[in-house]
Amino acid sequence: MRKITLLFLFLISAASFGQKTVLHCGNIIDVATGKLVPQQTIIVEKNKITDIQNGYAKPGAGDVVVDLKNKTVLPGLIDMHVHIESETSKDQYIKRMSNTPADIAFEAQKHALTTLMAGFTTVRDLGGTGVNISLRNAINKGLVSGPRIFTSGKTIATTGGHGDPSNGWRQDIKLPEGSENGVVDSEEEARKAVRQRYQDGVDCIKITATGGVLSIAKSGKAPQFTPNELDGVIQTANDYGFHVAAHAHGKEGMERALKAGVTTIEHGTFLDDETIKLFKDKGAYLVPTIIAGKTVADSAKVKGYYHPLVVPKAIETGAKIQEAFGRAYKAGVKIAFGTDAGVYPHGYNAKEFQYMVEAGMPMEECLRAATLVSAEILGMKDQIGSLEKGKLADIIAVEGNPIADPKILMKVSFVMKDGKVYK
Ligand SMILES: [Zn+2]
Repeated sequence: MRKITLLFLFLISAASFGQKTVLHCGNIIDVATGKLVPQQTIIVEKNKITDIQNGYAKPGAGDVVVDLKNKTVLPGLIDMHVHIESETSKDQYIKRMSNTPADIAFEAQKHALTTLMAGFTTVRDLGGTGVNISLRNAINKGLVSGPRIFTSGKTIATTGGHGDPSNGWRQDIKLPEGSENGVVDSEEEARKAVRQRYQDGVDCIKITATGGVLSIAKSGKAPQFTPNELDGVIQTANDYGFHVAAHAHGKEGMERALKAGVTTIEHGTFLDDETIKLFKDKGAYLVPTIIAGKTVADSAKVKGYYHPLVVPKAIETGAKIQEAFGRAYKAGVKIAFGTDAGVYPHGYNAKEFQYMVEAGMPMEECLRAATLVSAEILGMKDQIGSLEKGKLADIIAVEGNPIADPKILMKVSFVMKDGKVYK
């Protein structure tokens, strides 16, 4: 009797061990070339793509077949600029004071699920309270569902700068100070803040090289780090193997950040020909976030939506981002895909493709920016960003051809991440 039970257990585990998921795909997009390859079978075992075959391969006994014969299949998308913890609302400033970390965590989990269901299987989170690190860990452990997260933890800013969490607060209300909160005012403090992020467990570093739109502060453009402070951030980040993302709208602060050696510039609103040359000399990437610009410009027209200091910045900056992106792209600046999700409601990330195409970047290149290019910046080029044997099984599907019509990516009908089907 005992022998029979053991044999039975062995058979069950053998079946689940060798079980494959067989995806019959009407078309696969080869993101490297932008070409559609018809009638393909993707074989997934555990969390990896183990084979891609021409035609519709016959499944083995016990294999799970997913019929995507009427769909176009592509690698899971990557958004290089999200704020997974927060979402725009009229009471966003009040919520910063009233929300506990637990409140933030529940909201963040909802945003993460929304993002995953929209076809974004990987995101780079560029700034929150530290809950973003916990959420990344919870997703990796399988406790909650969401995209693969690479996070900067808390942003590093300067006193009164974009990202200083005490902006707009009464002076007698004290928050933790210094590197713990990411507020630095010297090269030494900049180094310490990066080390603090390392201890926090981040994946990359985010700085606010210039003023920003949504902070309760006057200038959205002024440079906010000295060259020495920037050197402190970047040298220390390099020591720990982190790349650095710099929020930047104004020309001077953006150029200082580029000279210091940041990997990506976020927004890039007031760039000019000199800035473009620096981008190219340094090999830095622009992450455009056009949808965020358009959203803040629209919301600024709604009376009372933003703090009065924010309104003129939102109107001036929001309207310019798309044009700046178009100029940079045409001049040959490297482009990664990022949207600033949270500044607009999570889940609409793919709308950015329409704005990028409108500004002159062909859709096949936009798709590359949201897959291969972003995977490379994250140091994940051999694991994500394309459908290839040996890579992680991050796979999505849509109806129709998104290269011909970017709107199609707004309706993702199938999502697999790490070999698990979520939608
Ligand atoms: Zn942002």
